[in-house]
Amino acid sequence: MHVLIVEDDDLVGDGLKAGLEALGQTTDWVRTAATADTALELAHFDVVVLDLGLPDQDGMALLERWRRQGREIPVLILTARDAVPDRVAGLEAGADDYLAKPFDLSELVARLHSLVRRASGRAINLIQYGPLRFDPAKLEVSLDDRPVSLSRRELAVLQALLQNPGRLLTPGQLQDHVYGWSEGVESNAVAVHVHNLRRKLGGDLIETVRGLGYRIRKLSP
Ligand code: CA
Repeated sequence: MHVLIVEDDDLVGDGLKAGLEALGQTTDWVRTAATADTALELAHFDVVVLDLGLPDQDGMALLERWRRQGREIPVLILTARDAVPDRVAGLEAGADDYLAKPFDLSELVARLHSLVRRASGRAINLIQYGPLRFDPAKLEVSLDDRPVSLSRRELAVLQALLQNPGRLLTPGQLQDHVYGWSEGVESNAVAVHVHNLRRKLGGDLIETVRGLGYRIRKLSP
C-alpha cells in the first residue's frame, strides 16, 4: 500500500511516516496542499492521510477540489480530538474516513487497509489466488498453506500485481507502488524483486511481457 501523508506538523508527519514504514507500508510525506497535488500527479498512491490545517490551503478545500476534479482516491482526514463539526464537514467534503488526534498507529493502518479494500471492491481482506494466499493487513503470504517470508518491497510488488489481476504493469508503475517518489531507486530494482518473488513462489506466477512489464498469470480453469 502506497500512502501519501499530507501534514505540515513535523512531529506528526515524521511519526506517521516512520510508523507506517515500520508496519510495512510505502509512504511519502508532503507538507503543503501544492506538493500534495504534485505528488498525486507524479506517482500512484492507494490512499491519502490528510491533515486539515495546512499552510497554503485548508485541507477541506483541497479535498473538495480533488473530488470536483474527479480524484477518487480514498482519503482519511486527521481531525482535532472531538471536533465533531470538522468530522461532519470532512465527510461532506468527500473524506472516506476520519481519525482524531492523537491516534493509535495500528488503528490508522487498519482503517487505511479497509479504505483501500473498499476502493478495490473486495469485501474481505484476504487475496486468494490459486494456491497463493495474501493477507495485506498482516503482510502474510502462504503458498499451499505454507508460510512464505517476503521482504517489504517484494510484498508491495506482489500486492500491486494481485490487485490488478490480468493487467499489465510497467516497471515504472510497479516502482510507484513499491518506492516513495523521493527514494533513490536502482533502475533494475523491480526486476530484482520479481526475480526473488519467482524464486520464492514459483516461476509460473508472474509473467513477463517482454519490453512492456509484468502481470499475474491467468489461473488455468
Ligand atoms: Ca496542521
